[in-house]
Parts: sequence; C-alpha cells; structure tokens
Amino acid sequence: MSAQIVSGRDIARLVRAETAEKVADLARRGIVPGLRVILAGDDPASQVYVRSKGRMSEKVGIDADTIRLPGDLDAQTLRMEIHRLNQDPTVDGILVQLPLPGHLDWDTQADVLGDIDPNKDVDGLHPLNLGRLVAGEPGFVACTPSGCMRMLKESGVECRGKRAVVLGRSTIVGKPMAHLLLDAHATVTICHSKTEDLASRVREADIVIAAVGRPEMVRGDWIKPGAAVIDVGINRLDDGRLVGDVAFDEVSDVAGYLSPVPGGVGPMTIAYLLHNVTLSAERRAQRQGV
Ligand code: NDP
Repeated sequence: MSAQIVSGRDIARLVRAETAEKVADLARRGIVPGLRVILAGDDPASQVYVRSKGRMSEKVGIDADTIRLPGDLDAQTLRMEIHRLNQDPTVDGILVQLPLPGHLDWDTQADVLGDIDPNKDVDGLHPLNLGRLVAGEPGFVACTPSGCMRMLKESGVECRGKRAVVLGRSTIVGKPMAHLLLDAHATVTICHSKTEDLASRVREADIVIAAVGRPEMVRGDWIKPGAAVIDVGINRLDDGRLVGDVAFDEVSDVAGYLSPVPGGVGPMTIAYLLHNVTLSAERRAQRQGV
C-alpha cells in the first residue's frame, strides 16, 4: 500500500474539539446550542444515524433531541412540526432525517425542506442556502461536502489549479461538493450515470470524490498515480460488510491519499453537523448582543 490513509475518525475528533470550545464559550454567554432532528418512520439505518448524531451532540455540549413521528404521517403534520421549531428561540438547527417515508413524494420533500427557516437549516439543503453556496455568500453548507474539504485540507492536499472529478450529482453531496472545490480554485468535472467513459474522466483527476452509492465501483486502474481519493459511498454488502464506492485495496496501491470506509467521511459528516449547529448558535448570540 502506498496511499496515505485519510482518517475521518481522527480529523472529526479535531473538528469536535474545536466545536466543544465554541460551545463552552457560548455557555459562558448563556447560550446552549439546540438541535432538533425529525425522524419520521422506523428506517433502521436512519435510526442508527440519528442515535449517533444525538450521542455526538451531547459529547460537545449541544442540546439535541429527536422528534419521532409515525411512518404514515401526512405532509401537513410534518410541516406543522417544522413551523413550531422555526418559532422556538432555543432551537438553532433543524434537521429532517432523509429519506422521508416513501408515500411522501419528491415535491412534498422539497416543500418540507423549503419550510425550514434558512437560518436553522444546518443541513444546508434549503434553496436559499444552496443559492448562497453558488453565489459564494455565507450560509450553511451541506455537512458531507464540508467534511470532505476539511479532509483534503488536513491531508495537505492543494486544490488550487488541480483537476477534480466529483462522481455523483446529488443535491446533498455531489453538487455542493463541486462548488466547494470550485471555490478552492480546482478545475471541476461532475460525472453521473450518463457520463461516457467514466474511467477516463477519473484518470485525469488529481482529486477524486466518489459519491455514487455503487460498491467498489472505482477501480485501481481508474486512478492517476498520487491522486487524492475521498470515498463518500456507504454500501452494505449481502455478507453484511460495509464498503465504499472505491475498491480500497486496488486504489490504495495507486493513490497518494485515500479515505477508508468505515472511518472516513461518515464521522466528518456528523462533526460538521455539530459545527453548523454551533455556528447557528453563534449567530443567535450575535443577534442577541451577548
Ligand atoms: P444519490 O443516489 O442521490 O446520487 C447518486 C449519484 O451517483 C447520482 O448523481 C447518480 O447519477 C450517480 N451514479 C449512480 N450510478 C452511477 C454510475 N454507475 N456511474 C456514474 N454515476 C452514477 O446518492 P447520494 O449523493 O445521496 O449518496 C451517494 C453515496 O454516498 C451513497 O452511498 C450514500 O450512502 C453515501 N453518503 C454518505 C454520507 C456520509 O456521511 N459518508 C452522506 C451522504 C451520502 P444520476 O444523477 O445520473 O442518477
């Protein structure tokens, strides 16, 4: 193996320590950051993620609570809950755990995310925050791409002038990721399921961000020697193993930097959620003049 392993676990610890310091400072000013996670239904993976978010929040001193709603809820119930949290001055961050139950269609999901007060949208999925990202204005940036950028930074990977390929164009990972890389002065290509000759596109890249949800799709011979590869994918195999979108053993022989799964991007996503909640609380403190 030649690649330097980019440990999200270690870097997330660093981010959480920074956040805990900010939370302690806010506490001295009488403010406790508040996070409310809305969990509709009983999707097992979502339950695990939400528990983990709650546990990590407590560790850094954030007041986190999960609002559990039945899986057969109607959109109106969900939207009323969001409006209640929008009005609550002790709540700095509202997160709707995705995916929502299947009977709520895509339009409903968009309406629900659009109902969240953009100043409490710690997932960075409100259209206003997405627009701010594109415009280069301060707002909330989605947690996973923020975490990937920090992993590159902590590994000493320079983005300026480099060619970056983002695999995947979702609103939650691929698109914001591409904008952050662009802001860092990389030359960015976004690939997706209709991209022709994907392997050749990836081979041109100094930085590869894989976020497709296809187990071990990115092979060793797709990678430019020395490239930095960040694996966002989380895929559960039939034998129960968790793997990323990158064939770890093959790619680690070629890449210069490689993040593992598990222990890579996953912990960073949660660390940046806590970071965003604390940022929101700092803005509240500023508004209150404390
Ligand atoms: P989506 O399903 O929303 O998006 C997947 C993207 O990959 C789409 O743009 C799709 O293209 C593209 N894609 C699918 N198949 C191929 C293919 N064969 N070749 C090229 N592109 C392809 O997924 P998400 O962005 O939400 O998540 C991606 C992965 O990251 C998942 O494994 C998810 O579990 C993981 N994830 C991990 C997080 C973490 O914290 N580590 C956080 C969020 C997600 P098209 O648009 O054309 O359909």
